Amino acid sequence: MDKDVLLKSEVLLEALPYIRQFYKKTIVIKYGGHAMKDEALKQAFAKCVTLLRYIGVNPVIVHGGGPQIGRMLDQLNIPSAFRDGLRITDDATMNVVEMVLAGQVNKQIVNQLNLAGGRAVGISGKDGETIRCRKLELAVDRENLAPEIIDLGHVGEVTGIDPTLIRGLMRDGFIPVIAPVGVDENGETYNINADTVASAVAVALEARSLVLLTDVCGILDKKKDRISSVDVKGIMTLIEDGTVSGGMIPKVQCCVEAVSGGVQKAQIIDGGVPNSLLLELFTEQGIGTEILLDLP
Ligand code: ADP
Ligand code: MG
Repeated sequence: MDKDVLLKSEVLLEALPYIRQFYKKTIVIKYGGHAMKDEALKQAFAKCVTLLRYIGVNPVIVHGGGPQIGRMLDQLNIPSAFRDGLRITDDATMNVVEMVLAGQVNKQIVNQLNLAGGRAVGISGKDGETIRCRKLELAVDRENLAPEIIDLGHVGEVTGIDPTLIRGLMRDGFIPVIAPVGVDENGETYNINADTVASAVAVALEARSLVLLTDVCGILDKKKDRISSVDVKGIMTLIEDGTVSGGMIPKVQCCVEAVSGGVQKAQIIDGGVPNSLLLELFTEQGIGTEILLDLP
């Protein structure tokens, strides 16, 4: 017997206990810039998600699109103002953000999933009033001064998720694809961080797991080695001692909120590795960092 064929059968069998674990369970996946950087990666992602659907898992996608928004603002010559390194989303910028996220990027992902044989439906947080939010009040600490609230314009934070529409789509066999745009109680439109939306959606759907695709192989320790498993207490220590910094801080906070809200596991994986989703979910070793409420 050909060794390769034997190996393939072993790999398939190794997945069985994981497939059983996830059967009929919901997995919320945050799909971001890095994992969308080329055509091959996009196709691999679409195939992985479609495979999940066909083996009886319910995948839900929440996507970002920062680089695509930046490119469109450049093309349209819309200048951006920044405060403390953060883009201010004024009215003109918000129009572009919504056009790019809920239009271009959302429909590209839907199209790619459909081409892979999945049946996808794209929505923004406005559809079915799925994402309710309010304007984000970001307090910035200044040395020797009282914290200052900075106004980032149309940047929101989630106040509630209504999962009715998402559940309906899943029940009918569709893969929901969600753009992180929401409205406040006055109908104002806001852009919301996609990690945050994914986490809130995972809690609202009582998902089995939250998977965040990013540009590193997981959470790294002081020696830059990947941490394979960590619990909430461990995360707090990593933030306090400065091991986790920058963009990784809000990301791990989203994971903490998800597992504290009843999601069994949050996973941070490298979106730049083809098929990273399947490797993390369906192999013994996993390839990223899993975050649990309490380590056994
Ligand atoms: P995304 O676009 O996926 O949200 P971010 O750039 O916001 O990614 O956050 C991921 C980044 O966080 C990594 O590329 C890395 O530079 C930074 N980072 C800070 N501390 C850590 C850590 N301990 N482990 C891994 N990445 C970290
Ligand atoms: Mg980020």
